[in-house]
Amino acid sequence: MRVFHSPAAPRHDPEQYWRRGTPIPHPEQAARYAILRDAAVTGGHALAEPGDHGLDPIRAVHDRAYLAFLAEAWARREEMPGIGDEILSGVFARPHMHRRPAGLLGLAGLYMADTSTPIRAGTWPAIYGAAQCAVAAADAALAEGHAYALCRPPGHHAYADSAGGFCFLNNSAIAAARMRAATGGPVAILDIDVHHGNGTQGIFYGRADVLTVSVHADPSDYFPFYAGYADETGTGEGLGFNRNLPLPPGSGDAPWLEAVEAGLAAIAAHRPRGLVVALGLDASADDPIGALKVTAAGFAGAAERIARAGLPTALVQEGGYLCAALPENLTAFLAAFDAAR
Ligand SMILES: [Zn+2]
Repeated sequence: MRVFHSPAAPRHDPEQYWRRGTPIPHPEQAARYAILRDAAVTGGHALAEPGDHGLDPIRAVHDRAYLAFLAEAWARREEMPGIGDEILSGVFARPHMHRRPAGLLGLAGLYMADTSTPIRAGTWPAIYGAAQCAVAAADAALAEGHAYALCRPPGHHAYADSAGGFCFLNNSAIAAARMRAATGGPVAILDIDVHHGNGTQGIFYGRADVLTVSVHADPSDYFPFYAGYADETGTGEGLGFNRNLPLPPGSGDAPWLEAVEAGLAAIAAHRPRGLVVALGLDASADDPIGALKVTAAGFAGAAERIARAGLPTALVQEGGYLCAALPENLTAFLAAFDAAR
């Protein structure tokens, strides 16, 4: 398994996160990069850098003005008197407030859904590098059968024009769009992160050519709260091409794997030419912000089932936070995937 990683990943280093009204150390820490990379090396997988495929594959799913904001915000920081180490708004645009302001603080509130995505000195190089890993893994999956993109920060909560949930650029969506363009045929995304892949769903909600399937904890009392319900099935041409499989909090391996199998059955019926797996590892029983009880054996079971689908597969890292089980779950997943291929 080739492992695409970007040495710029740790340059995005958010410090603080508001959880349930209390500031805590940000869960999406730079240390995740080295832990996941070292776990992949320990598992015997070969590291590769992604090269630079430019902005075009990112523009395939993201709004240009949003990308310009992300790329230029840090250089504009002196527009905000008294700014510290990060650009972060405490004011957010709501659907009924939709004017685009000129100032940087207002733009931050326009383009972010919450306070989890501060822009810091190294944020753009880190998120750009992660997106390049997704592009490289999509290309490698089509050429070689499969590849893993060690994307950090993650991406599946990012919409075409907004950051949120630790995510800026939707790496899984970028990989899927890349596969769609290269194959000319339909593709599919299977998101097994514990959180619903709301950004990915939003990007492809009106499209029939990219089937989006998400297995996640019930959002009725869990992030992302406002999307991820079973009755969200797509719109217009995309009707029937979005599938949400929410699980009750605390669900373990058996119901989780059953949902993964149901997702794979929907994907097989779509006859895709490529598959992107949004590989969150935060469904783990040990994850500090998780809500399910999946074990290393569960992750291995999912990997086996996904590998047996026999599709060109790009594995794109999503969530999974600092705990002893994090590297073990990645190693278990990659080993089982390789063994089943
Ligand atoms: Zn997650």
